[in-house]
Amino acid sequence: TTAFLNDSYLPLEEARISPMDRGFLFGDGIYEVIPTLGGKPVGMGAHLSRLQDGLDALSITNPKSETEWRELVSALVQKNAQHLQSDSVGIYIQVSRGTVMNRAHGYPEDIPPTVFAFAFATAAPPVEDINKVSVFSVITGEDKRWQRCNIKSTSLLGNVMHFQQGKSAGKQEIILLNHRGEVTEASACNVFVVKDGVIMTPPLDNQILPGITRKLVIDSLKLEGIEVQQKPITKALLDNADEVWLTSSSKEIAPVTSVDDKPVGSGKVGDVWLQAIRVFNRHKFEL
Ligand code: PLP
Repeated sequence: TTAFLNDSYLPLEEARISPMDRGFLFGDGIYEVIPTLGGKPVGMGAHLSRLQDGLDALSITNPKSETEWRELVSALVQKNAQHLQSDSVGIYIQVSRGTVMNRAHGYPEDIPPTVFAFAFATAAPPVEDINKVSVFSVITGEDKRWQRCNIKSTSLLGNVMHFQQGKSAGKQEIILLNHRGEVTEASACNVFVVKDGVIMTPPLDNQILPGITRKLVIDSLKLEGIEVQQKPITKALLDNADEVWLTSSSKEIAPVTSVDDKPVGSGKVGDVWLQAIRVFNRHKFEL
């Protein structure tokens, strides 16, 4: 695998950073995962704009222009195409505050950020077939993460522990609930529910990551005249939903057929999911 570190491309096995990097010491950094299919990125503009928002929130100066980020992404796709042998390739990019020589919470101004990126093969996107698509089973649990979940921070311990909670229960994800019993998101995905034909997803605020797939799903449906309501989703609504979906860059739209060991709706993948994935696929490269 060819990776990128600071100013150069190099074999991933040879990439080295100092243990005094604040990314390692404090999780003081921001990351993105940009999906590509057949070499074409999905949601690139939105990913770069969220990266900028995260860097702004941390007061880290963006080390690259938008053009340079785009060049980096396509170079990594190209350099790894032969070796990865996959149509679906994710590009991970991380910017940490940089390397220091003493460990202190307060950070020095204007040290050069550490930039690291690499390419990896991802699962194929969902097939447009109710009977063949991979389905997800989830549990629910209290969201125990911090109050700044809108920042795509590399400090992911809360998410890692929640993901593991789902895995220990034999599930592929966990849907998190805030102290009011409302859905926030999953450990690495946003959540949508469908009830009586109405598609809903929690509103953007500090409790959730502004998922790019979430945005592309909303925007592509809108292009075809279908509205998604952005409003709080109670546990009761989740339990009574006809359909539940998880969205993320690698999963696109994944149907959930079981929540807390109870079937969602009929227990089968729903028609609205099929409509949504078709609409998403029609527009994902243009949005
Ligand atoms: N929520 C969390 C906590 C995530 O880590 C992710 C991404 O992996 C998402 C939502 C989905 O975001 P995106 O669609 O931008 O991949």
